[in-house]
Amino acid sequence: MNWAWGLGVAILVVQGCAAPQRVEPAETSESLGAINFLLITLDTLRADHLGSYGYARPTSPALDALAHEATRFADVTCSMPTTLPSHLTILTGLTPREHGVRRNGELPGGELHSIFHRLKDRFGARTAAVTAARVLDPKYLGGLGLDELFFGDDAAPKVRQVAASEVVRRGLRWLDDLGFGMHSEGEEGAAGVSASRPPFALWLHFFDTHEPYDPEPAVARRFTGGYSGSLGTELSVDFLVGLNDSAADGSLGAADRRYIADLYDAEIAELDRVLGDLFTELRRRGLWDDLLVVVIGDHGQAHGEDGFWGHGERLLEPVIRVPFVLKEPGQRTGRVVESPVETLDLVPTLVELLGIEESLKLRGRSLVPALRGEELEARAYRVVERRFYPKEPLRQGVALQAGGWKLVAYHEAEGTDYRLGRREGEGGLDGEDFFNRTVPEARLLAEALADLRGQRPRDSPVDAGDRELLRALGYVD
Ligand SMILES: [Zn+2]
Repeated sequence: MNWAWGLGVAILVVQGCAAPQRVEPAETSESLGAINFLLITLDTLRADHLGSYGYARPTSPALDALAHEATRFADVTCSMPTTLPSHLTILTGLTPREHGVRRNGELPGGELHSIFHRLKDRFGARTAAVTAARVLDPKYLGGLGLDELFFGDDAAPKVRQVAASEVVRRGLRWLDDLGFGMHSEGEEGAAGVSASRPPFALWLHFFDTHEPYDPEPAVARRFTGGYSGSLGTELSVDFLVGLNDSAADGSLGAADRRYIADLYDAEIAELDRVLGDLFTELRRRGLWDDLLVVVIGDHGQAHGEDGFWGHGERLLEPVIRVPFVLKEPGQRTGRVVESPVETLDLVPTLVELLGIEESLKLRGRSLVPALRGEELEARAYRVVERRFYPKEPLRQGVALQAGGWKLVAYHEAEGTDYRLGRREGEGGLDGEDFFNRTVPEARLLAEALADLRGQRPRDSPVDAGDRELLRALGYVD
């Protein structure tokens, strides 16, 4: 156990963190300048169900192939396992406390300086987002520097969720409109950035692996073969969220549990196929090689670990660990960074990589040294917060991680439940509890929790229609 303490101050010296894999420095110049940028956010995709993150089943050949020619961060945590706050952290480099949105359905208080603002200001980039769920309705994303925001379909304005294929179709149409479509044969350089055509920054959000689990039957069969239990081929949000009732959870047999994870895997495979088609199309358009690509998750998903299903509420490892892959323009050689990083680090990384002058002091750190094969400076600890419950404002949760250890505190009306343990293992430690108030780590946790409780966020109302939609997706205040 490698902890050291200084006189009541929460200073944590982390030793024994795995060093990043040493690789040859990339061939790119110091900063990339004006390039096209594709950001893909994968909603509800737990990292350990992807082949490139060690999963044994063939869920993700396209994402694995991308990781093979990119930098893959092996140990990544989100800031808060709730869609809107987590995305706002990814897009702004601000913690949920800093950007002020700590639950779904809450409008940001104003303009949030995002990566899209920076790309517009610095390079005149054209910016757009296509989101796939009502929790990321354009009205929540209005102050993020996006020229265009697409959600749903004009023909079905009330839709709650949009399939991956539709997200890709809309994104490619936007590229067509900008002149980044297919160009005629022999027309050299048509795919590149030029004075008359500024770069693009396109964000595509994919929600397919979120509840409900209803993969195409043909894909489902590849993963669920042999199941003969009573669960159907479509598992609703209500059913899956309802498993948090201990009687419902207790009624599942081992085969049922496996089957639920199988359907989730089928959802990943279906999404991965669409992403593979997208990557192929971008290659066909001549855009791929010079494209900066980031694939990152907003949070994971629990499947009954420690009796918990879903995300948001508990800070279990499957819930807070996400994939994060970054392909630099021209990169063809993959590398793996084992050092712990956070989704909070994306914006500072892009800022340095693209040579953008930064006026904000961001808490995240640039991961560019890791892209160059250098060791990252050790960080004391990572923080993941639980969402805010407006009707129970004192209900808070926080996880702190350092090295192989993790501290979790859930503050509820009846008191605070503290846990301390090793991160790895079944259930990601929350199942075991060898917390002891006399150990020094307890102080760090107590301080972090007191800090959270001392800063109560705004409580802006969620309109009734949104409340229904959020409830339908399993987000009930
Ligand atoms: Zn989400």
